[in-house]
Amino acid sequence: MRNVYTTLLLLFAALILFCSYIIGRRDKAPLTKSIRYIMIAAPCTMVVYAVALLMKEKFAAELMYALYYTISDVLLICMLFYSLKYTRVYEPKPLYKAGLYLITAVDGLMMLFNVFTDGIFIFRCEQMEDGSGTVFYGIAERGGLYNFHRLIIYLFVVLILLPLAVKIARSPSMYRKKYWLTLLSLLVIIAANVLYLAMDLEIDFSVLTYGIMAVAIYYFNVIYVPQGLVEGLLSSSIRNMDDSVMCFDIEGNCIYANSVAYAFFRTEDVGPLTEYYKRWMDGRELSETVDSEWKETYEVNSVKRYYAAQFKRLCDVTGSCVGCFFKIHDETEDVKKLEAERFRATHDRLTRIYNREHFYDMASEMLRKAEPGTYCMVCSDIKDFKLVNDVFGINTGDEILLNIANTLKQFAKSGSVYGRLSGDRFALCMPKERFNKEFISNEMHRIGYISDATSYRVQIHVGVYDIVDKNIEVSVMCDRAFMAIKTIKTSFADMIAYYDDELRESGISEQKVTGEFGTALREGQFCFYLQPQVSVTGKVLGGEALVRWIHPERGLVPPDKFIGILERTGLICRLDLNIWELACKKLREWKDMGQTGYHISVNISPKDFYFTDIYKVFTGLVEKYEINPRNLRLEITETAIMSDFKKQLVLIRRLQEYGFCVEMDDFGSGYSSLNMLKDMTVDTLKVDMEFLRKTDNIERSRTILKMIIALSKQLGMEVITEGVETKEHVDFLTDIGCDIFQGYYFAKPMPVTEFEERYICR
Ligand code: C2E
Ligand code: CA
Ligand code: CA
Repeated sequence: MRNVYTTLLLLFAALILFCSYIIGRRDKAPLTKSIRYIMIAAPCTMVVYAVALLMKEKFAAELMYALYYTISDVLLICMLFYSLKYTRVYEPKPLYKAGLYLITAVDGLMMLFNVFTDGIFIFRCEQMEDGSGTVFYGIAERGGLYNFHRLIIYLFVVLILLPLAVKIARSPSMYRKKYWLTLLSLLVIIAANVLYLAMDLEIDFSVLTYGIMAVAIYYFNVIYVPQGLVEGLLSSSIRNMDDSVMCFDIEGNCIYANSVAYAFFRTEDVGPLTEYYKRWMDGRELSETVDSEWKETYEVNSVKRYYAAQFKRLCDVTGSCVGCFFKIHDETEDVKKLEAERFRATHDRLTRIYNREHFYDMASEMLRKAEPGTYCMVCSDIKDFKLVNDVFGINTGDEILLNIANTLKQFAKSGSVYGRLSGDRFALCMPKERFNKEFISNEMHRIGYISDATSYRVQIHVGVYDIVDKNIEVSVMCDRAFMAIKTIKTSFADMIAYYDDELRESGISEQKVTGEFGTALREGQFCFYLQPQVSVTGKVLGGEALVRWIHPERGLVPPDKFIGILERTGLICRLDLNIWELACKKLREWKDMGQTGYHISVNISPKDFYFTDIYKVFTGLVEKYEINPRNLRLEITETAIMSDFKKQLVLIRRLQEYGFCVEMDDFGSGYSSLNMLKDMTVDTLKVDMEFLRKTDNIERSRTILKMIIALSKQLGMEVITEGVETKEHVDFLTDIGCDIFQGYYFAKPMPVTEFEERYICR
């Protein structure tokens, strides 16, 4: 009997230890870890008990039994920690843990003490016989202190069971079964133990239940999921879904539908649901159907709602159909969000018409399908829109833009596409035959009218490009319409311009210029002419360097044929650098000739301020050619300064401090001139030649000129007047105090050698 039992214990213990090792390698979850402690402590108890039974000496047997009792305490502590971790009823504090360890240690020491005091306090062993002739040492007598050990055991058992009981009471009914089963596995050991004590058996068969309990705990906690729990959770998740769910059996009876489904069909009974099923089946058998998904839209309270529906068949393990379900998802919000996002990405915020990219896409899509030569591109641009915003305020600016968008909407109708390309630029691609010059012209006049309070009219210019080749890019078509706009002069009369042959030619010449520029620069085809600048006493003080392109085929090309193009493309910076260098080289030659009394004025394009470090370049040139910065005059325009007023102001000061003479070119041709003078101290004002031109208001022009010259004198600036063509000009300008003259009256721009011959090497 003993041999069978010990073998059983040892084999079972080995099996559990092996399992615990395997589990430990696979599952590192904290709860599994605490179960594994039980799965180690339980077989240890079993092994030690089996060894005690096998002992042949009384002392050794008593020692093993003492160890067995102590390890039992450890096993109970493991179970207690597991129970707390599993139920999470409360977190054991360090003091609580220390108390448990202390009690176990005291119990263990007592057991050891018992062995050496011949078992008078707790227990004593005696030789016994198991009925089949095997002799072993069993526990024969228990002393008074054994009750202390028993008390500890009972205390631990209560502490283990208590959290589980609380957990059972607190948990939803679905989970209770799981906790009950765990509790039951613990109760089995207690029952077995009580039975052993009550029956006063020689061998404690309850030790085997430790192993059974360890396995049961692992199973019920980690592997087992109660059937009711799965079903309960599944049905509750379907009940709580935001989608309508309806299940039908093979006969087409609705066996389940959640509340959302009933609400969707606005019903409280299954009638409409079964109707829906029948409509979908359309006389088919369930086995003839296939799983599918589709979209549905319904009008609910005159609001369009979007649904995504799904049909799925349900099959059993053999693959035969046992029913089906429908899921209907309301995706109205998603669809709306997506539509809003798409709208934002393709439309302009303010006017809510197409933005540039989308306009290009839609227009090219439309043109792809169109008859060739039947469409035109109409673009609009507001003159001085920045000024309108500055003077009348952003709101007025916005209102004008909205008006233009509205006119486009009205005018466009179907078969046209329109959009806002940027700030004040709009485009409309439409059939040529519907284009109505009168209508557009009137509308633009109407929109340009701001209020009775002001006489200012906003000018909206329109450019039209006849789409001859519909395969070129839409952006290029727009560019051409805008090119046409550029030809509109300031008069109110014609606000609509057409892209014609002349513009096409200039477009071609633009390509030519940009194409040839690189080679021309490399081969030194650019040079400058000098136009003398003359003092009131008639003395030539120097000249303005004006670029000329000596083209190998076309001969001498004047700057108005290429400067504009180079400015638009940014190539002007490379040209200017070249001319500045040539001018400095010339000044150095003159210096070597002992002629240091003449200056050269060079032009600086607004683009140079963006792309060139002007200060570095000019100081570098002066140092390279060792010339006096006074002899190099720098002509800048208002537009260049206005782009970033504060920054350019600093730059101008630095240039002046270095010794350069800074001139403001074309003064009076912009609109912010006077205000700017307040902050800026250039050395010289170069008055725009328009003031001298013959106009209806010649007297007024001259009065302004007079005032400008008086003003600059008072501000300590020197004045040069350009475009001086007659003796009468000279006399008048001398009278009103102009310091220097430049113009055809004295000389036209001339090659440098001629300039030198005439003025320098006399
Ligand atoms: P700008 O700087 O205002 O130069 C004066 C222009 O007026 C010159 O034209 C000159 O020939 C012309 N002019 C001079 N006196 C008279 C006159 O009495 N009556 C009339 N009707 N015109 C006169 P040009 O040489 O054709 O230059 C045109 C423009 O090209 C210049 O205007 C300047 O803006 C630009 N430009 C010339 N050379 C350069 C350069 O090297 N770099 C840059 N960035 N621009 C340049
Ligand atoms: Ca100039
Ligand atoms: Ca000028």
